[in-house]
Amino acid sequence: MPAAPSKVIVPKYWRGELERVLIAEHEIQTRVAELARQLQHDYARRELVIVALLNGTVMFLADLVRHLELPLRLDFIGVSSYGKGTTPGRLHVTKELKVDVRGRDVLLIDDILDTGRTLKAVSAKLKRFRPRSLKTCVLLNKQARRVEKIRADYIGFQIEDFFVVGYGLDFAEQYRNLPFIGVLHEKIYLAGNK
Ligand code: 5GP
Ligand code: MG
Repeated sequence: MPAAPSKVIVPKYWRGELERVLIAEHEIQTRVAELARQLQHDYARRELVIVALLNGTVMFLADLVRHLELPLRLDFIGVSSYGKGTTPGRLHVTKELKVDVRGRDVLLIDDILDTGRTLKAVSAKLKRFRPRSLKTCVLLNKQARRVEKIRADYIGFQIEDFFVVGYGLDFAEQYRNLPFIGVLHEKIYLAGNK
């Protein structure tokens, strides 16, 4: 589902930092409920392990799992990517998986699929534990910047090549609390606002 330009205006408080609302709160909620219905159908009566990537998935995950009526286990993996100039695919793991996923149906969740390096590396890591099945689910897909050959099995919205924040997604750890997804003003990230 491509994210149609939202008609919702940026709340006054955020107007200096956000260019526009890309996906409004009600659009997110509607789509998350749809995704959940699809998952409920596909995993009906199966025991599912959801592995979510920290920290960007918090909102998406919290909203998604509350729709699911499944025997569900939940765990997290923390990764931070090294800077742009470092070896692609090399991930620094900040939180390791605790739940045993061997022989289980696993759904890996991330906030946004961009170059594909994160999802590719974490998928490879999970496969080494020999799950019964492994699928991926992302809230946003930014196809334009893909480097790795990887696609997600479940996608909330297709978006253009904007740097987006909100609904869990950050810039320098800020903006995660917005209930909508907005496009960050170029001046904010060009300023290297840390
Ligand atoms: P990839 O490894 O696919 O290039 O990047 C995935 C990660 O990059 C995401 O988990 C997210 O942390 C970050 N990322 C990529 N694009 C955006 C964006 O537009 N906004 C934000 N806030 N993070 C992004
Ligand atoms: Mg992330």
